[in-house]
Amino acid sequence: MKTAIITGASRGIGRACALLLSKNGYNVLINYNRSEDEAKSLSNELGSAPHMLYKADISQKKEVFEMINSAADRFGGIDLLVNNAGIAEQKLFSDITEDDLQNMMNINFTGAFFASQAALPYMLHEKSGAIINISSMWGIVGGSCEVHYSASKAALLGFTKALAKELGPSGITVNAIAPGIIETDMMFDISEEEKNELIDNTPACRFGTPEDVAKTVLFLAENKFYTGQVLSPNGGFVIY
Ligand code: NAP
Repeated sequence: MKTAIITGASRGIGRACALLLSKNGYNVLINYNRSEDEAKSLSNELGSAPHMLYKADISQKKEVFEMINSAADRFGGIDLLVNNAGIAEQKLFSDITEDDLQNMMNINFTGAFFASQAALPYMLHEKSGAIINISSMWGIVGGSCEVHYSASKAALLGFTKALAKELGPSGITVNAIAPGIIETDMMFDISEEEKNELIDNTPACRFGTPEDVAKTVLFLAENKFYTGQVLSPNGGFVIY
């Protein structure tokens, strides 16, 4: 049985990934930070399917390494790492403080960097594995009033491409997903008017669902000739 670690799996996209991967035969480690109740409710939904909950702040290197090592100890290895945990923030560029920037980069980028370093020895041991980084379409095209968010997501794309080249010969794939607008808690501060405008500008005439992204994760996890690639489930909002 394969083992997947999903960071930020208590809610939204990470939660959908945990459910789909479990349904497809993976042991899953569900990482959460603040949303313990939501994580427990996901655990109830998974029932007897093999899984473990793990509280860790992805921006803390020590906690990240301990989490990855715990999953490997419990399940005997690591086959898939989904670097999904993330935060968003809308602010004018001039209002972004040093703390805002550090926090954004530490959670959205550095967390994925160290989780990948921690998982790597287990994947190298098997000469097999997959790392999937959840970026954003704003990391490709840039989002106004989301400069630090866009920069953190663009950093993930450079990280993905460089690491794919380095790890390809070791049988490990590294890919990124750059979702469009997905209906999760992350959209809570967008007004109804803005939502309607965004839908009007989406050829598919709807927002994405967490399941749309989870299906892309499963596809990349199982298709080993994809590496260094960026797939963007976005309903046609961005076509490049
Ligand atoms: P969400 O519903 O707000 O969920 C975010 C998840 O990240 C939660 O499970 C949260 O866990 C976790 N998280 C946040 N800070 C963390 C930390 N320091 N340590 C560990 N976990 C942490 O957001 P989502 O929409 O599912 O987003 C998931 C990923 O997709 C993010 O990387 C986001 O940037 C990306 N994305 C989302 C959209 C969208 O439109 N929704 C579009 C493009 C890309 P706790 O609540 O337990 O702290």
